[in-house]
Amino acid sequence: MSSHPPSRPVAVIGGGIVGSALLYTLAHRGVDAVLLESEPALALGASGTNSGILHTGFDSTAGELETELILRAAEIRPAILDALGVPVISAGAELVPHTPEDHETVRALAANAAANGVPVEVRESDGALLVPGESVSDPVAFAFALAASAVAAGARIELDARVTAISAIDDGLLLETADGRRFEVAAALNAAGLYADDIARLMGDDSFEIYPRKGEFFVFELPDGQTLDRIILPVPTKRTKGVLVFPTLDGKVIAGPTAVDLDDKEDWSVRPEARDEILAKAVQQLPALDGLEPVASYAGLRPAGRGSNYVIGRSVENDRLINVAAIRSTGLTASLGIADHVADLLPELGIDVGELRPPTVAAPSASAGPWWLRTAHHRRTPA
Ligand SMILES: Cc1cc2nc3c(=O)[nH]c(=O)nc-3n(C[C@H](O)[C@H](O)[C@H](O)COP(=O)(O)OP(=O)(O)OC[C@H]3O[C@@H](n4cnc5c(N)ncnc54)[C@H](O)[C@@H]3O)c2cc1C
Repeated sequence: MSSHPPSRPVAVIGGGIVGSALLYTLAHRGVDAVLLESEPALALGASGTNSGILHTGFDSTAGELETELILRAAEIRPAILDALGVPVISAGAELVPHTPEDHETVRALAANAAANGVPVEVRESDGALLVPGESVSDPVAFAFALAASAVAAGARIELDARVTAISAIDDGLLLETADGRRFEVAAALNAAGLYADDIARLMGDDSFEIYPRKGEFFVFELPDGQTLDRIILPVPTKRTKGVLVFPTLDGKVIAGPTAVDLDDKEDWSVRPEARDEILAKAVQQLPALDGLEPVASYAGLRPAGRGSNYVIGRSVENDRLINVAAIRSTGLTASLGIADHVADLLPELGIDVGELRPPTVAAPSASAGPWWLRTAHHRRTPA
């Protein structure tokens, strides 16, 4: 390996949680990096409109790449969140079974958790599955903190930088943005979320397709300043993972999400029927919600792969474009594991990558208002 730093940076396309974690990891593994984000701020896509839950992987399918990267992230993430001061509620989760089928599912989930090395308990009184390691974060604060730390370690961020063209040059790629900026880079990591398939297609790679799977949420305030002390997960059925109820760092309780497959990647609206779909199930999970009016609602669009999940690896059209796509449901949790895995692909392209260094701590820019309304306001959808 050469001891000289690469003459060109590595580009990260997309500044959601995956792009932010990639930038963080590159910067802290000694790689010169620049992030290009089409919006005027980071984390305005799926990364700012989710459940904010840092999953343990207790219910993930053993042996899949997604599970491997969730578990890899779990080893890296706590020390980084702690050092960067990213707030987390270590609430733990519970799944309460109601039917004989639910009890059977709980037993299967406990066995699955054991296979993944995730500690769980079954409560004797009601057979509930308790998952102490499940926690809730502020996903926007998480992305901002990673990005700020990356910048403090030497990385750059270009906002309002929508990548519209990619072409091959000698030992690298030329990226061009809608407003005419040009970047000669050693490699590009495609973390463009919903638009990752469009980015791949800029190089003629149509090996995967991304569609939006909408998830809608309703936000509540419990009376008398009460807060929720745990994450309530439904016992999943064969058909659905169901509606969960979770606390936020700002003392609210959120119920959701739905799962609605769409074609329109710009439809951030909350459907009128979502309210009934969510509320009945949420009250079953937490009776204290009965009769309460939601104070807000928001929707997120999961970047779902059509027939694929966690499409991570070199593009079939050009080795120097690495797709980090179809991170549909667990990107917040797995982002730092994904980033570590992707950084390990770079030495094969002749790019030196060191060990992950301790975080550079920097004050991230604060986001105005609650994170869960930020994207809805940006997209001007009623909330
Ligand atoms: C309803 C819902 C609930 C979820 N709950 C959880 C949860 O509890 N826990 C969990 O771990 N995960 C959860 N997820 C999944 C998680 O939110 C996603 O996996 C994650 O946000 C994907 O991150 P990303 O960076 O790949 O995509 P995004 O956040 O969509 O980021 C992609 C970025 O690329 C930018 N971009 C697009 N095109 C271009 C271009 N041409 N040039 C430059 N930039 C571009 C976009 O503007 C965007 O900022 C949930 C998702 C949803 C929607």
